[in-house]
Amino acid sequence: MASATAPALKHTAQDGAAEAIHVENLHKKFGQLHVLKGVSLSARDGEVIAIIGGSGSGKSTLLRCINCLENPTSGIIRVNGEEIKLKADSHGHTVPADRRQIERIRSKLGMVFQNFNLWSHMTLIENVIEVPVHVLGVKRDEAIAQAEKLLARVGLAEKRDVYPAYLSGGQQQRAAIARALAINPRVMLFDEPTSALDPELVGEVLKVIGDLAREGRTMVLVTHEMKFAREVATHVVYLYNGLVEEEGPPEQIFGAPKSERLKQFIRNIG
Ligand code: ADP
Ligand code: MG
Repeated sequence: MASATAPALKHTAQDGAAEAIHVENLHKKFGQLHVLKGVSLSARDGEVIAIIGGSGSGKSTLLRCINCLENPTSGIIRVNGEEIKLKADSHGHTVPADRRQIERIRSKLGMVFQNFNLWSHMTLIENVIEVPVHVLGVKRDEAIAQAEKLLARVGLAEKRDVYPAYLSGGQQQRAAIARALAINPRVMLFDEPTSALDPELVGEVLKVIGDLAREGRTMVLVTHEMKFAREVATHVVYLYNGLVEEEGPPEQIFGAPKSERLKQFIRNIG
C-alpha cells in the first residue's frame, strides 16, 4: 500500500535553508512521569523529519509541545524563528507567557492527528474554511475558492458539501490534510496519520503526504510506515524512552542502524 507513492527524486533541503523548527534539550514531565528527557531536533525549510519509536516513547508528546498543546517542563522550542515564551504559574507549572504568541505559532503549523478530528457538524468545505475565515480573517469567498482547490488536490472536490460521517477514514484524513493546509502553514506536523485506517485506505493518504513531501513541504511526521519514511524522509529520528537513541539519513537508519534497540525495533515492526 505504501508503494502507492511514485518513485521520484527526493526533495532535499538547500544548504543553509532557514530553521523552521528548533527543539533543544526538551524535557516534559507529567507529575512523576518523565516522558521527554532532553530531546533536540531541528527541521530546516524543505526537510521531512520522520520520528519513529515504540509506543510510549514520547513521539506524540514531542509534537504536542511543538504545537503548544502541551507545555514543556524545560528546554527551548523555536517555531518560525520565534522562541515559545513560557513562565511558571503559582503552582510551579510551566504555562505560556504570552497567549497571543501561542496563536501566532499555531498559525504557522498545520497539525494532522491520528483520528482525523474533523468537526462533525460541518461539511468538508466548512471544515476547511473555518480557521481561515474565523481566525485569520480571510474573506469568505476567497477562503471558499482556496478550499475548493485544496479539496481537489486531495481528491475530494465532489465531496465538498458532505459531512464527515458519510466518508471513509481515508477520505476524512485527506480532508483533514486539506484543512491543515488551508492556513498555508510553514510546517506540517503529522501524528501517525494512517494508523487508525483500515489497511486498504492507507495508500491513498500516504500518496497525498508523499506528494507534499516531494513538493518540498517542510514536515515533521510521526509514523509506523517504515517503507514510507524511508522513501520521503530527509532525516529520521528514533526515539527511545524519551531520548533520541539514534538519528540520521534514512539510508543509515534503515540500512545500517547502529543501536541494538533500533535494530530490534526495525526487525519487530518491519
Ligand atoms: P507515543 O506517542 O510515543 O506513543 P506519548 O507521547 O503519547 O507516546 O506518551 C508518552 C508517555 O507519556 C506515555 O507513558 C503516556 O502514557 C504518557 N502521557 C502522555 N500524555 C499524558 C498526559 N496528558 N498525562 C499523563 N501522562 C501522559
Ligand atoms: Mg503517539
